[in-house]
Amino acid sequence: MILDPKISAEAAEVAAEAMRHLWWLRDAGVREVSTQTMPATTPVATMPATLAVADDALRAIRSDLGDCTRCKLHGGRTHLVFGVGDPAAQLMFVGEGPGADEDQQGEPFVGRAGQLLTKMIEAMGFARSDVYIANVVKCRPPGNRDPEPDEIESCEPFLKAQIAAIRPRVIVALGRFAVQTLLHDATPISRLRGKWREYEGVKLMPTFHPAYLLRSPAEKKPAWEDLQQVMKEFGKSPSPR
Ligand code: URA
Repeated sequence: MILDPKISAEAAEVAAEAMRHLWWLRDAGVREVSTQTMPATTPVATMPATLAVADDALRAIRSDLGDCTRCKLHGGRTHLVFGVGDPAAQLMFVGEGPGADEDQQGEPFVGRAGQLLTKMIEAMGFARSDVYIANVVKCRPPGNRDPEPDEIESCEPFLKAQIAAIRPRVIVALGRFAVQTLLHDATPISRLRGKWREYEGVKLMPTFHPAYLLRSPAEKKPAWEDLQQVMKEFGKSPSPR
């Protein structure tokens, strides 16, 4: 099936809006929703709602992406790297885009930077499987170049829809592209990091990208301070060494 890229991106935005509405209903105390495709009444509170609704929504977004050809990155990819983790995660990490390892394996953050990210997540007191990890662009920019504005623009509705589906309590935005894409703020990451921001009602903590931390180990300390602020939000404190 050939999907019109514009209509399809709009569909992702509509899905995101529908998710926001569903969550709003749930927060307002609605316990059942009726749809034509689900059984006549689906108990929202007992289903378990967060996991089932978020999982369905993520599957719909993935299926909308399909065998995506919306931007020129599709030509060089091995795998489209959608995202990984708990669909009902309270904590979500957003990176820039897949590198060579991620492109090969179809999973975000599995290369060297990914191993560091996994260590950071574990040091925060979470397992990698507890959180959700996604990128701004879902296909690898050739030679690991920066994603270009038209590529970010094509992919952004899908990231937006993923966030609306998961509705995490906190987003950690890793590096310049994630922060600037989500916040539409061109301030350098060195000035944005460590200060709470908000993205569509979700608390967002900008911090350095793990690949940058591998190149600049002295920045690990401030990055850890940023993550400690996130831990505090979840009532976690660093374990004594
Ligand atoms: N860097 C990213 O931003 N994302 C990945 O998935 C891997 C490396």
